[in-house]
Amino acid sequence: MSALHDRHRAVLPDWLALYYEDPIELTHGEGRHVWDADGRRYLDFFGGILTTMTAHALPEVTKAIAEQAGRIVHSSTLYLDRPMVELAERIAALSGIPDARVFFTTSGTEANDTALLLATAYRRSNQILAMRNSYHGRSFSTVGVTGNHAWSPTGLSPLQTLYVHGAVRTRGPFAGLTDEGFTEACVADLEDLLGHTHRVAALIAEPVQGVGGFTAPPDGLYAAFRRVLDRHGVLWISDEVQTGWGRTGDHFWGWQAHAQAGPPDILTFAKGIGNGMSVGGVVARAEVMNCLDAHSISTFGGSPVTMAAGLANLSYLLDHDLQGNARRVGGLLIERIRAAAAGVDAVREVRGRGLMIGVELADPATGAAAPEAASAVLEAARAGGLLIGKGGGHDTSVLRVAPPLSLTVAEAEEGAALLEQALRTL
Ligand code: PMP
Repeated sequence: MSALHDRHRAVLPDWLALYYEDPIELTHGEGRHVWDADGRRYLDFFGGILTTMTAHALPEVTKAIAEQAGRIVHSSTLYLDRPMVELAERIAALSGIPDARVFFTTSGTEANDTALLLATAYRRSNQILAMRNSYHGRSFSTVGVTGNHAWSPTGLSPLQTLYVHGAVRTRGPFAGLTDEGFTEACVADLEDLLGHTHRVAALIAEPVQGVGGFTAPPDGLYAAFRRVLDRHGVLWISDEVQTGWGRTGDHFWGWQAHAQAGPPDILTFAKGIGNGMSVGGVVARAEVMNCLDAHSISTFGGSPVTMAAGLANLSYLLDHDLQGNARRVGGLLIERIRAAAAGVDAVREVRGRGLMIGVELADPATGAAAPEAASAVLEAARAGGLLIGKGGGHDTSVLRVAPPLSLTVAEAEEGAALLEQALRTL
């Protein structure tokens, strides 16, 4: 164990999870690569969804951060904050939500907290629908809508939550159905649920489940849900913390794969928009956003330095068509990963869209989830110089691939070859 790991364990909570038996200390990054304290270089196929959406040490973003930090860092709640207004204008226009208002937070958890605060206040109800296997954060309210209990630090909740089928296709009562059959069964389940509940405030859902293992419903499922929700006055919160900003390639937001539904009532975002700075937020139409009788609910949300990072990052992303890059390079990458996985018995499914690709592992003999295999592949990939993530329902047996959106074709080929090597150690 490294000396720093010893010190980490002595002073930080036991539940602050670290990847790898011998955890990595990252010292610097550039583009799609990071280096550890021993000078080893890794291709980063996970940081893209955690923090570094665009590229490590992107000069346009670091310059904007340094310039703003050298000018003024103050609260955005009592004084006008030009970068915050500018970023809000841009996000409101991109959101697809009519008459949109944007509220900035410092994390995805806080963004979802705020969305739940809005929905419950607007509807005067603390009943929430959430998806099975979902992940929305680790605060008191967001744990209460997280169906993926592997990630919940507590089972206590201030909300009354009902969990809905619709995100997981490889297990559960609706496994193995066609897209149409699955959608029909889930809609019937939702209708039945709403027919026997009190007033429900909102459905919160990730268009593609992130922590849950990059699993998604058939396109259009949320449009079908929306028709039912509308009849009951229930709001739709789309948690775009992992799916926003073009990550899925075909769409700028994940909800657009269900576009017949129109935009959600509330959209939440975080993670990569600050390219590593703590930026999260909520977008809602004015009527919903303004239902709170509040002065302000954050000191640091919208802080000028993080907003400057967000503005520079968003400009880079749009100017370089990184959504198109995610579609093109992601399409090639999933093909290569499918080919790499073809001869590996333990791979149950390779799925995903854009630069959000999951490789689900299972015991070839029993079909049971294979979390040990996932950990072994993670270690082997690291040994080969590739960082990937893992996730999945109660069992963490899905490998997650989510590089920065600026990934090149050569890096996609290199990463797929390294992943193949790692899979072949099974
Ligand atoms: N929603 C989703 C879909 C997420 O993946 C996460 C983080 N994994 C969150 C919310 C919480 O975001 P944060 O960690 O920034 O609080």
